[in-house]
Amino acid sequence: MGVEKSLILVKPDGVQYGHIGHVLSRIENRRYEIKALKMVNATKEQLCEHYSQLVDKPYYPGIEEFMISGPIVAIIAEGDEIIETFRKMAGPTNPSEAMSGTIRGDFARSWGPGPIKNVVHSSDSVESAEREIKIWFPERVNTEN
Ligand code: ADP
Repeated sequence: MGVEKSLILVKPDGVQYGHIGHVLSRIENRRYEIKALKMVNATKEQLCEHYSQLVDKPYYPGIEEFMISGPIVAIIAEGDEIIETFRKMAGPTNPSEAMSGTIRGDFARSWGPGPIKNVVHSSDSVESAEREIKIWFPERVNTEN
Protein backbone atom coordinates (compact mmCIF):
# COMPACT_ATOMS: atom_id res chain seq x y z
CA MET A 1 0.00 0.00 0.00
CA GLY A 2 1.30 3.49 0.74
CA VAL A 3 1.79 6.07 -1.98
CA GLU A 4 0.76 4.74 -5.38
CA LYS A 5 0.28 6.03 -8.89
CA SER A 6 -2.80 5.26 -10.95
CA LEU A 7 -3.32 5.68 -14.66
CA ILE A 8 -6.69 7.30 -15.19
CA LEU A 9 -8.33 7.85 -18.57
CA VAL A 10 -11.26 10.11 -19.31
CA LYS A 11 -12.78 8.05 -22.11
CA PRO A 12 -14.24 9.55 -25.32
CA ASP A 13 -17.76 9.76 -23.81
CA GLY A 14 -16.38 11.65 -20.82
CA VAL A 15 -14.59 14.13 -23.07
CA GLN A 16 -17.51 14.48 -25.49
CA TYR A 17 -20.09 15.15 -22.78
CA GLY A 18 -17.98 17.61 -20.82
CA HIS A 19 -16.72 15.60 -17.86
CA ILE A 20 -12.96 16.24 -18.01
CA GLY A 21 -13.32 18.91 -15.34
CA HIS A 22 -15.57 16.77 -13.17
CA VAL A 23 -13.06 13.92 -13.17
CA LEU A 24 -10.14 16.25 -12.43
CA SER A 25 -12.10 17.94 -9.62
CA ARG A 26 -12.79 14.63 -7.97
CA ILE A 27 -9.10 13.72 -8.09
CA GLU A 28 -8.13 17.11 -6.67
CA ASN A 29 -10.94 17.21 -4.11
CA ARG A 30 -9.49 14.05 -2.55
CA ARG A 31 -6.08 15.79 -2.51
CA TYR A 32 -4.49 13.39 -4.92
CA GLU A 33 -1.66 14.88 -6.91
CA ILE A 34 -1.93 15.11 -10.69
CA LYS A 35 1.55 14.18 -11.90
CA ALA A 36 0.90 14.21 -15.65
CA LEU A 37 -1.98 15.05 -17.93
CA LYS A 38 -2.54 15.05 -21.69
CA MET A 39 -5.21 14.79 -24.35
CA VAL A 40 -4.49 12.08 -26.91
CA ASN A 41 -6.09 10.15 -29.73
CA ALA A 42 -5.60 6.50 -28.85
CA THR A 43 -4.09 4.16 -31.42
CA LYS A 44 -5.27 0.59 -31.94
CA GLU A 45 -1.84 -0.58 -30.82
CA GLN A 46 -2.12 1.28 -27.52
CA LEU A 47 -5.60 -0.12 -26.95
CA CYS A 48 -4.53 -3.71 -27.67
CA GLU A 49 -1.83 -3.35 -25.03
CA HIS A 50 -4.03 -1.50 -22.58
CA TYR A 51 -6.86 -4.04 -22.86
CA SER A 52 -4.59 -7.07 -23.38
CA GLN A 53 -6.86 -9.17 -21.12
CA LEU A 54 -9.92 -8.32 -23.21
CA VAL A 55 -8.65 -8.55 -26.81
CA ASP A 56 -10.12 -12.03 -27.28
CA LYS A 57 -13.58 -11.06 -26.01
CA PRO A 58 -16.38 -10.80 -28.56
CA TYR A 59 -17.04 -7.23 -27.43
CA TYR A 60 -13.42 -6.07 -27.86
CA PRO A 61 -13.89 -4.62 -31.40
CA GLY A 62 -16.66 -2.44 -29.99
CA ILE A 63 -14.41 -1.22 -27.18
CA GLU A 64 -11.69 -0.40 -29.70
CA GLU A 65 -14.09 1.47 -31.96
CA PHE A 66 -15.43 3.43 -29.00
CA MET A 67 -12.00 4.28 -27.63
CA ILE A 68 -10.77 5.66 -30.97
CA SER A 69 -14.02 7.56 -31.64
CA GLY A 70 -12.66 10.75 -30.08
CA PRO A 71 -9.88 12.14 -27.94
CA ILE A 72 -9.23 10.85 -24.44
CA VAL A 73 -7.49 12.48 -21.50
CA ALA A 74 -4.72 10.48 -19.86
CA ILE A 75 -3.80 11.29 -16.28
CA ILE A 76 -1.21 10.01 -13.83
CA ALA A 77 -2.45 10.69 -10.31
CA GLU A 78 -0.64 9.85 -7.11
CA GLY A 79 -1.55 9.41 -3.47
CA ASP A 80 -2.03 7.06 -0.58
CA GLU A 81 -3.86 3.95 -1.77
CA ILE A 82 -5.22 5.83 -4.79
CA ILE A 83 -5.74 2.66 -6.83
CA GLU A 84 -8.42 1.10 -4.66
CA THR A 85 -9.91 4.41 -3.58
CA PHE A 86 -10.23 5.81 -7.09
CA ARG A 87 -11.89 2.61 -8.31
CA LYS A 88 -14.48 3.11 -5.55
CA MET A 89 -14.86 6.74 -6.65
CA ALA A 90 -15.39 5.56 -10.26
CA GLY A 91 -17.99 2.94 -9.33
CA PRO A 92 -18.65 -0.44 -10.94
CA THR A 93 -18.01 -1.12 -14.63
CA ASN A 94 -21.72 -1.14 -15.49
CA PRO A 95 -23.10 2.36 -14.90
CA SER A 96 -26.53 0.88 -14.12
CA GLU A 97 -24.99 -0.59 -10.99
CA ALA A 98 -23.10 2.57 -10.04
CA MET A 99 -24.41 4.57 -7.09
CA SER A 100 -24.97 8.30 -7.31
CA GLY A 101 -21.89 9.99 -5.93
CA THR A 102 -19.57 7.82 -7.99
CA ILE A 103 -18.23 9.15 -11.29
CA ARG A 104 -20.03 6.50 -13.30
CA GLY A 105 -23.17 6.83 -11.17
CA ASP A 106 -23.27 10.58 -11.77
CA PHE A 107 -22.09 10.91 -15.37
CA ALA A 108 -22.67 7.61 -17.19
CA ARG A 109 -25.52 5.28 -17.96
CA SER A 110 -26.02 2.25 -20.18
CA TRP A 111 -26.90 3.05 -23.78
CA GLY A 112 -28.22 -0.14 -25.34
CA PRO A 113 -25.95 -2.61 -27.16
CA GLY A 114 -22.25 -2.12 -27.83
CA PRO A 115 -19.39 -1.33 -25.54
CA ILE A 116 -20.09 -0.14 -22.02
CA LYS A 117 -19.47 3.62 -22.03
CA ASN A 118 -18.53 4.52 -18.52
CA VAL A 119 -16.56 7.81 -18.67
CA VAL A 120 -13.38 6.67 -16.89
CA HIS A 121 -10.75 3.99 -16.68
CA SER A 122 -8.45 3.55 -13.71
CA SER A 123 -5.73 1.02 -12.99
CA ASP A 124 -6.73 -2.00 -10.91
CA SER A 125 -3.34 -2.78 -9.33
CA VAL A 126 0.15 -1.36 -8.88
CA GLU A 127 1.40 -3.69 -11.62
CA SER A 128 -1.35 -2.58 -14.02
CA ALA A 129 -0.59 1.06 -13.26
CA GLU A 130 3.09 0.61 -14.10
CA ARG A 131 2.21 -1.19 -17.32
CA GLU A 132 -0.45 1.32 -18.34
CA ILE A 133 1.69 4.39 -17.57
CA LYS A 134 4.27 3.06 -20.05
CA ILE A 135 1.56 2.73 -22.71
CA TRP A 136 0.13 6.24 -22.36
CA PHE A 137 3.23 8.12 -21.18
CA PRO A 138 6.12 6.34 -22.96
CA GLU A 139 8.21 9.51 -22.66
CA ARG A 140 8.28 9.07 -18.86
CA VAL A 141 9.74 5.58 -18.81
CA ASN A 142 13.04 6.57 -17.26
CA THR A 143 11.75 9.16 -14.83
CA GLU A 144 11.33 8.47 -11.13
CA ASN A 145 8.29 10.68 -10.60
P1 ADP B 1 -13.19 -1.63 -15.62
O1 ADP B 1 -13.04 -0.56 -16.68
O2 ADP B 1 -14.32 -1.31 -14.68
O3 ADP B 1 -11.91 -1.97 -14.92
P2 ADP B 1 -12.93 -4.07 -17.26
O4 ADP B 1 -11.45 -3.95 -17.15
O5 ADP B 1 -13.57 -5.38 -16.94
O6 ADP B 1 -13.68 -2.95 -16.39
O7 ADP B 1 -13.38 -3.72 -18.76
C1 ADP B 1 -12.77 -2.68 -19.46
C2 ADP B 1 -13.81 -1.89 -20.24
O8 ADP B 1 -14.37 -2.72 -21.26
C3 ADP B 1 -15.01 -1.46 -19.40
O9 ADP B 1 -14.77 -0.27 -18.68
C4 ADP B 1 -16.07 -1.29 -20.45
O10 ADP B 1 -15.92 -0.04 -21.15
C5 ADP B 1 -15.75 -2.42 -21.42
N1 ADP B 1 -16.49 -3.66 -21.13
C6 ADP B 1 -16.24 -4.53 -20.11
N2 ADP B 1 -17.08 -5.57 -20.13
C7 ADP B 1 -17.91 -5.36 -21.20
C8 ADP B 1 -19.03 -6.08 -21.78
N3 ADP B 1 -19.46 -7.24 -21.24
N4 ADP B 1 -19.62 -5.56 -22.85
C9 ADP B 1 -19.21 -4.43 -23.39
N5 ADP B 1 -18.16 -3.69 -22.92
C10 ADP B 1 -17.53 -4.15 -21.84
